[in-house]
Amino acid sequence: MTALRHDWTRAEILALLELPFADLVARAQGVHREHHDPNAVQVSTLLSIKTGGCPEDCAYCPQAARYATGVEAEKLMDLDAVLAKAQAAKAAGATRFCMGAAWRSPKDRDIPKVAAMIGAVKALGMETCATLGMLSEPQAHALKHAGLDYYNHNLDSAPEFYTEIIHTREYQDRLDTLGHVRDAGLKICCGGIVGMGESREQRAGLLHALATLPAHPDSVPINRLVQVAGTPLAGTRALDPFEFVRTIAAARIAMPKSMVRLSAGRAEMSDELQALCFLAGANSIFYGEKLLTTGNPDVEHDQALFARLGIHALEVDVESNTVHADIVERCAAEAAA
Ligand code: SF4
Repeated sequence: MTALRHDWTRAEILALLELPFADLVARAQGVHREHHDPNAVQVSTLLSIKTGGCPEDCAYCPQAARYATGVEAEKLMDLDAVLAKAQAAKAAGATRFCMGAAWRSPKDRDIPKVAAMIGAVKALGMETCATLGMLSEPQAHALKHAGLDYYNHNLDSAPEFYTEIIHTREYQDRLDTLGHVRDAGLKICCGGIVGMGESREQRAGLLHALATLPAHPDSVPINRLVQVAGTPLAGTRALDPFEFVRTIAAARIAMPKSMVRLSAGRAEMSDELQALCFLAGANSIFYGEKLLTTGNPDVEHDQALFARLGIHALEVDVESNTVHADIVERCAAEAAA
C-alpha cells in the first residue's frame, strides 16, 4: 500500500509531471486501485446560492463585479429555492450538494441563513459542501455545528503565480481559512485551476502546496480554466489536454486517498479526454447543467458516459450523514429571524 506522504518536494512532483505519459498514467492508476474503487465516481452538484457582484479581482472569475462579463449580481437565494434545487440534484443521482456564494467572506448575519440551507439539504440525506470565501474561526465552527460536511476553499495556483491572478487577498489568507476549517473539524475541499498561463513547474508548485498541507484535502478539485469574455484571462493560450491529464495523475500519486475532482472546464472536454482523466485517477465530478455561472455537461450525457465506461456513482454513507431535526428547525428559525 502506497504510504501517505506529506514531505513531497516540488522537484519530485515536477519529476512526476515529466514522466513519459504512459508511465505516469500507469503509476497513477496503480495508486488509484490501491486506495479506491477504480470504477466508482463521486457525484456532486454545485449551486450558486448568491451570484455575482463579488468585490475580489480573481482574474479568471466572471462573478467579479469589476469585470464586464454579463453576470448580474443577485441576492442570496431563499431557503425553499435552494431546497428545491437540492431535491432535484438528489433525484438526478448527486450525493453531495455544494452551495457557492460570490463573497469575499460571509458577513456574520449571513451565517444563520446558510446554516439553515445546510441543515435542510443534510436532512435530505446528502453530503453538504459550501464555498463562501474566507472564513473566520467562529464562522467555521458555526457551519460545522449546522451540519456542514465539507468546505471548499481553493489555493488556486502555485504561491509565486498567485500574485499574477489575484491582488485582493493573499495566499496566506487562503491558508488561514483552511486552518480555521480544519480546526473546526470540517472536511476540506481544496484544489486549483490550471491553464491560466502558468508553467509546468508552477503546476508542480500548486500540487506541492496541496500535498504538503497539514492533511491532504479530502477532495481536490482540479479545474481547467474556462475562459470567459470580459475577464483578464480571456484569450489565454489553451492548455494542452495531455498536460491536464498529467496534472490529474500527479495529484492522484501525491494525494493517494483524496477524491480528485474533474471540475470546471469539463464541458469543453471530449468524452475521451474525461475517460483518460478517470484512468489517471480522477474519481469525482460536478454534475448538473451549470457550474456556478459557466456550463457543465448535461446529466443525461454524463449518465451515458458512465454507462459506456462501466462507471457507477459512489454511494454516500447516509448513516454518518444524518442530522437531527432540531438543528434543522433551529437554523430555519434563526434564518427567519
Ligand atoms: S473566485 Fe470567488 S472570490 Fe474570486 S471573484 Fe469569483 S466569486 Fe469572488
